[in-house]
Amino acid sequence: MGLTLICLVLIGLGVAIQRDIIVLERWIPAHYLPWAPLQLEDPPGMVTGWKLSRLNENPAACRAFLEREVPQRVTFLPDRPSDNGCNLINSVRMHSSPGTSGEQGVRFNQSFIASCPLAVSWLRFERHGLKSAAQEVMGSEVTHVSHVGSYACRNIYGRENARRSEHATADALDVTGFTLADGRHIRLPRDWTAPDDEDAPGRFLRAVQDAACESFGTVLGPDYNAAHRDHFHLGTRGWRFCR
Ligand SMILES: [Zn+2]
Repeated sequence: MGLTLICLVLIGLGVAIQRDIIVLERWIPAHYLPWAPLQLEDPPGMVTGWKLSRLNENPAACRAFLEREVPQRVTFLPDRPSDNGCNLINSVRMHSSPGTSGEQGVRFNQSFIASCPLAVSWLRFERHGLKSAAQEVMGSEVTHVSHVGSYACRNIYGRENARRSEHATADALDVTGFTLADGRHIRLPRDWTAPDDEDAPGRFLRAVQDAACESFGTVLGPDYNAAHRDHFHLGTRGWRFCR
């Protein structure tokens, strides 16, 4: 009897939602609703993480995100298919952020080529992860990001018999350091310290790495191996592989 009643109530609720008698969007923030498109401002969380991974598999939705959220930050590039595993498909050139009247922009040492998923992951990381790490640990803002490139048609570690690197399809960016609004430079490997070290730049770099794991599928840093001692590898493949 009780079970029948619960079933009837659930069916009634389902019909009401489907017919827009109850509009969930009015009561629940869009970032909690799995069917609402991901927005740059949506705070990180389980649902936004899931939406981000969905975007990586849907080129049209990914492109729509960039067109809608940051048209001034990207130039769409023509597709460059290839049969050697170094496709450039649905990719953009990612530009510095000019900032707004109330907000500091983030400048790159150089614009870079990014697959659409890399561009979206970077923007989410810049907006949520990098910003809060800088505010919480350094009490400042990041104004410059130094990187050593995203696109390179090569295998992992340049080895002949390895599989293609995420860089072969512009799915990863290698970041080497940051400059803050107060002029401080923080860079790898110089400022990387042991996890229990109280040194602020070291804590900042660890906070940056942790935050990157919310937006990128693969995050590799100095603790991973010698090949990454001087940069963070921020890639879109995989699911929260952070080392
Ligand atoms: Zn890399």
